[in-house]
Amino acid sequence: MSKNVEQTLVLFKPDSLQRGLVGDILTRFERVGLRIVGTKMLAPDRNHYGKHYEDIGKLKTRAGEKIFDITLDMMGRGPVIAMVFEGVEAVSLVRKLVGGTEPKSAEPGTIRGDFSHMSYEYANSAQKGIPNLIHASGDPEEAIKEVNHWFSDSELYDYQALHEVFTR
Ligand code: ADP
Repeated sequence: MSKNVEQTLVLFKPDSLQRGLVGDILTRFERVGLRIVGTKMLAPDRNHYGKHYEDIGKLKTRAGEKIFDITLDMMGRGPVIAMVFEGVEAVSLVRKLVGGTEPKSAEPGTIRGDFSHMSYEYANSAQKGIPNLIHASGDPEEAIKEVNHWFSDSELYDYQALHEVFTR
């Protein structure tokens, strides 16, 4: 991979599948020029999510035990679709497309801003994790750890775009 070409992990969280939004959301990643290099559907156990959200993401350290627990409850409520996207500065590009963590304040035009609405206040009073459709790696270092946590090397693919097949 050349410099600045990055891989990043995206999870279509259970609420993406529960609301039937996977196709609409995936279109946004594809049309900006990102390429899918790995994908699978799975329902990992709590231990896997504990590693994802604390060992790598430091969510318990940052947000506290309560938010960590309700987030793991929410993730355990259904399967997810995990994807690895590759592209120039893919990590920050995907974060830009996804938008802010709280759907209520996520900008219009972002995935969370356009497809979801929920406030921290309401979700916390209901003791539920905030349904915000997508997880995306926070920075390039985290992306490397997350891709390794979710995918083995043999599950990641390299292939030519069609224009490369015809011009190289
Ligand atoms: P992001 O997913 O935008 O990277 P974080 O890594 O801070 O955000 O948090 C991980 C996930 O934990 C969020 O996507 C959300 O589902 C949940 N979460 C974080 N903070 C809160 C909060 N204050 N209330 C409810 N859920 C939260």
